[in-house]
Amino acid sequence: MMIIKQNPALFINTVNGRMPVTSLGISLIHEHFLVDFIGADKTNEKRWSKDEVIKKVLPYLLEVKKIGVKTIFDCTPAFLGRDVLLQKRLSDESGLQVITNTGYYGAVQNKYLPQWAFTEGKEQLAKRWISEFENGIDGTAIKPGFIKIGVDAPHLSALHRKLVKAAAITHLKTGLTICSHTGPAVAAFGELDILQTMTVHPSAFVWTHAQMEKDKSLHVKAARMGTWISLDGIGWGEFENYADSINNLKIAGLLNRVLISHDAGWYKPDEKDGGNFTGFTNIFTQLLPILMKRGFTENDVMQLLVKNPAEAFGIRIRKLV
Ligand SMILES: [Zn+2]
Repeated sequence: MMIIKQNPALFINTVNGRMPVTSLGISLIHEHFLVDFIGADKTNEKRWSKDEVIKKVLPYLLEVKKIGVKTIFDCTPAFLGRDVLLQKRLSDESGLQVITNTGYYGAVQNKYLPQWAFTEGKEQLAKRWISEFENGIDGTAIKPGFIKIGVDAPHLSALHRKLVKAAAITHLKTGLTICSHTGPAVAAFGELDILQTMTVHPSAFVWTHAQMEKDKSLHVKAARMGTWISLDGIGWGEFENYADSINNLKIAGLLNRVLISHDAGWYKPDEKDGGNFTGFTNIFTQLLPILMKRGFTENDVMQLLVKNPAEAFGIRIRKLV
């Protein structure tokens, strides 16, 4: 496996510009401020009021800031409610560092893909994402800090294979890390095959929702290749099972490949007052006490919440040689 040392020169893009990864601090790598499930053909920023969303979401951000969180990665993709000016206002008003993404989400049978994702080739799609990295998103100067795509499991359709290939092209040009809504291992290994064929090292890939794979030995197998194992649904319970998965990777000597988050939130434009919002605290109030009881050290926790996010998301090209 390629060994990567943490390099203070590595940087990441926040919604307020470029920042060294050493400034990330305690980071939640997969959360959502707002998600609009209406579909790519109908979603638009007129469906929510930024003021209303901020009123709803800000207290939850201040709550985790108090706990010590410095950075939140907003994983809401384009056409699912990504609103970078809203993200910037939430960052400015909370004092948290916020990171947004580029890419398209193919999961849920392509409901969130724009028309051109069906017809354009991988190079054309990658060109759009690279342009967001080079020029900014939606006419702003705000640049993505990672790529977020999504595929349907278990077997990748031709369309979803194209999304993975576009992500590979974008990575090799920009150095942005690829997060893919995936779930079961069979889909993750399918994506890893494509990426490796395109000379992208597995350490540029975050297997998102890896907790949906029940065979924990497959987490170990992917992590040994360098893949980031994202156990990211901690907002929703099953804390002992998360602790088991993390401990299993620790025993295998692979704690340095694990990312954790809540995948929680989020303001829902179609519900009154944005509906029920799930906060971002379970890691601190529920999971960490279990891990400490199992002998995890302060150092292990910092590995999960500080070192690994910096290592996973520091922007650099990771090419197989
Ligand atoms: Zn999510």
